[in-house]
Amino acid sequence: MSILIDHIVHSKRKTVALIIQLDGTLTVRAPLRMPDVHLQEYIQNHTEWIREKQAQAKASPPTPKKHFVDGETFLYLGKAYPLTIVAHQRSALTFSGSKFHLANSNLPKARQAFIRWYKAQALAVISERVAFHANKNQFTFRKIRISSARTRWGSCSSNGTLSFTWRLVMAPPEVIDYVVVHELAHTQIKNHSPKFWRRVAEIMPEFKRHVAWLKKNGRTLTLGDD
Ligand SMILES: [Zn+2]
Repeated sequence: MSILIDHIVHSKRKTVALIIQLDGTLTVRAPLRMPDVHLQEYIQNHTEWIREKQAQAKASPPTPKKHFVDGETFLYLGKAYPLTIVAHQRSALTFSGSKFHLANSNLPKARQAFIRWYKAQALAVISERVAFHANKNQFTFRKIRISSARTRWGSCSSNGTLSFTWRLVMAPPEVIDYVVVHELAHTQIKNHSPKFWRRVAEIMPEFKRHVAWLKKNGRTLTLGDD
């Protein structure tokens, strides 16, 4: 069976790029004057890769958008907790340890309330984990910043500022620790060389499990439309 191209974009580029969208459709970016027969040949040679990526995309559909209704669950430290809408409450959003409580009057701004809450938790949780691993493994860093990055869990700037996305606080604690260790290791080794991965493995021998978890589940760490 031949591969179906859902979308093709010709532009001033020198090489072909194959992009599998989140819904499994295939977008092909190709040079302006590439003959169709060459393009078909290129697709033919990448059939296996395309099929594999499409299967992966279909196996994990995009996370549905949140509606902020009673009983809907929200992730925190790898666990899903239900939301209860309450009539009156001083803060927009609170967490009891087993449930989220959102004030009815804040429903129109529920998304912002959750993001604000996640950002505050991310800063508290991640700061503690960075301090713990930095102290244990003699790493130094300048400061911690919480970002809104979608797929970049963490980064380390040349001046030693560590950035982490607030979405990471939805992940299990051991996955958060892996991202923390990864960025701290970058304070000493900037690249992803074998030496870098050896350093990560020294601190966290099982780190590959967490890399795989993020690859498989990373897209669930979202409110669905952000
Ligand atoms: Zn890295």
